[in-house]
This record gives sequence, structure tokens and C-alpha cells, in this order.
Amino acid sequence: ETLHISAGSKKYPVYIGIGAVNQLKSFLQENYPKLTSVLIITDETVGKLYLEEFKAALNLSETYVKVVPAGEKAKTFEVYHECLSYALEKKLDRKSLILSFGGGAVGDLAGFVAASYMRGIPFIQIPTTILAHDSAVGGKVAINHALGKNMIGAFYQPEAVFYDLKFLQSLPPAEIRSGFAEVIKHALISDEEFYDWLVKSVENLNSIPNTLMTEFLTKGIKVKGAIVEQDETETGVRAYLNFGHTLGHAIEAEAGYGSISHGEAVAIGMVFALKISMERHSFNFNLLEFNEWLKKLGYVTELPEGLSTHRLLARMKQDKKSVGQKVRFVLLNKIGSPGVEELDDAYLLNRLDAFKRQGG
Ligand code: NAD
Ligand code: ZN
Repeated sequence: ETLHISAGSKKYPVYIGIGAVNQLKSFLQENYPKLTSVLIITDETVGKLYLEEFKAALNLSETYVKVVPAGEKAKTFEVYHECLSYALEKKLDRKSLILSFGGGAVGDLAGFVAASYMRGIPFIQIPTTILAHDSAVGGKVAINHALGKNMIGAFYQPEAVFYDLKFLQSLPPAEIRSGFAEVIKHALISDEEFYDWLVKSVENLNSIPNTLMTEFLTKGIKVKGAIVEQDETETGVRAYLNFGHTLGHAIEAEAGYGSISHGEAVAIGMVFALKISMERHSFNFNLLEFNEWLKKLGYVTELPEGLSTHRLLARMKQDKKSVGQKVRFVLLNKIGSPGVEELDDAYLLNRLDAFKRQGG
């Protein structure tokens, strides 16, 4: 299937399905007849697994490869600088193209290299994780700063996305779980039927048939695409995508990146946001069923041991999305109907303490 994303002035295709990447070569021939060179940016893990096959299938003459460390280690100033130096040494120009081949970390890094090299050269996303169904679409690209994650970046849309689900076969269970949390998020903020369908059809994250996974990810991308189309640079509805993330990001930062995955932290954040939504909006939701389902899939639904609620609150206030000093929280009026609310410190701290005592 091919989806189309329109973000501001740019419209680009998302090819999704098993074998999607086979269309990349002809896409380049058709759309970039004057292509001078290609720089593939990938990480050590994806490189080992798939780079030879990928390069062979592309079979282009001027192809350079930069292999970066796996995970968040890719999103540092040092690695960013190395990529730029390599691009300059290899004389990439405005008719060159960057191919980002990997998960969300590689995509964020490669996209920011593309956005800033010579004030911007085109890039294409070839995501290889479930999480990247989210990150590869929408044009947010960034690296990290010691004082905050994703703090240095740009809004820069890719030319196309080739999402080949064959790459997902080698994903470890923890990465499947992390990415699937974003699928659940996309369902909760968009449509009750999608949510019910997920709960009904997914009992084990490691045995979702390819056809079903393709449908879930296609739906997830559509939800994200529709929101990005309305609000490319996050002045309004794009904030809905932050559902579960205000607390999720705080948990990641407080627990220490790497000790809990992004999606696992977001899952806890969603449980908390749903609890508050129910308290404030007479939102009739079966939280018990949701928690049981999450646990069955291997998620944790309560705050990790030892996290201070005061510190979590302080983290939430540092969020890029907070305005002034109030925390802006995405809540649901019902499934598929999100809204943004400013919540008081005292109220939030009280609810966090209760959450810590009672769990999900
Ligand atoms: P990732 O790129 O770090 O991948 C996770 C791990 O899986 C890495 O160790 C990687 O080497 C490995 N991996 C990747 N593909 C694999 C495959 N096919 N088989 C086996 N192993 C594979 O991260 P991610 O979880 O995909 O994404 C997280 C990143 O995405 C974070 O940096 C986050 O900030 C960013 N993000 C960005 C956006 C956005 O809109 N730009 C949205 C959400 C998340
Ligand atoms: Zn996320």
C-alpha cells in the first residue's frame, strides 16, 4: 500500500509492506535522474544484519556508508559532526541524497544531518523498527544535548518513506514492545474501533502475523499523518501525539535512558493520563481491562520503584511543550477525542502520589 503525507508545502509517499524497499531503486531512477551520490546512514546492528543485501539491491555507483553506534548513542554532537565531516570529505552536494536506514535514532540523526548539510539536502527514511512507524513520518529530526533529549533539531520532511516489514523479523521482543506502545497511542487518540481491534486481536506481541502488523502500522501512520497534515510544526493538534509522553519522558529521564525503553515509559504515562482523564471528564473507560492487557503483553503499568514524584513533576515542567511553568497534559474526553489541558502542580503531585501508592 502507498500512503501520502502532506506536510506544509511538501507531499511525500510512504510505501509500506513486505518488499516495499524493492521499489526504492526505481523511485530514485524516476525522481532523481541527476543524482550525484548517496550516503547511507545506518547503525551497527542494522548494518550487520542488512547492509550488504540493501546495497546490492540498490546497486548505485557513488554510494557511501556511515555506520553509527546503535541506539541513543547515535544522536550525539560527536556522531553528528562525524557524519557531516564524512559528507564533506566525500563531496556530497545538493544533488546528493541521504538514506536513513535504521530505527528512530538513526532516522532522527540522519534527518538532522540532511536538514543542516549545505542548508538541506534531500533524504529518504527506510525505517527498520516498529517505533519508527511513528518517528519516520512527520519530519521531526533531532540530536540530543546533555541538558535535554531532542533539544537540537529541525522540522524537515523526507522525500519518501520505504517501510519494509521484512526488517522487523529480527527485532528483539523489548523493541517490539517499545514500538507497539506508539501503535496503542495512535489508536487511543484516534478511534475506538481501532483500539478495540487491537485489544481483541493482540495477545502476544511476538506472534502478530505480518498481514495484521502491516494493517496496524498502516493505521498508525495514517493517524500520525492526518495530525501532521493539520499542524506540521506543533502549534496545535500535533500536541495530541504527546499522549502518554509528558509523564513517559519524565520517567525515561529519571529512571535513566536505557533502563526503561521509550515505549514502556509511554505505556505507564498512558495509564496515568487515562486515570486523570477518567477523573476529570467522566470518561467511561475500562482501565482495568486495559491494564490487564498491557501486563499480558509484557508492559509495566505502574511507576518504577524509587522514582520521586517531586522529581518527575520537575521533569515534566522542563518539557518542550510546557508553556510558562504549567504542565500541559494531553487528556482524553473519550477514545479518539484528545485535548490539551494545563494542570496545576499541586494537583499533579497529588495524583502522582496516588498513582505511586495504588499503581495502575
Ligand atoms: P533505535 O533506532 O535506537 O532502535 C532500537 C534498537 O533496535 C537499536 O539498538 C537498533 O540497533 C535496533 N534495531 C533497529 N532495527 C532493527 C532490526 N530490524 N532488527 C534488530 N534490531 C534492530 O530506536 P527506535 O526505538 O526505533 O526509536 C527511538 C528513537 O526515536 C528515540 O531516539 C526517539 O527520540 C526517536 N523518536 C523520534 C520521533 C520523531 O518524531 N522524530 C518520534 C518518536 C521517537
Ligand atoms: Zn513516542
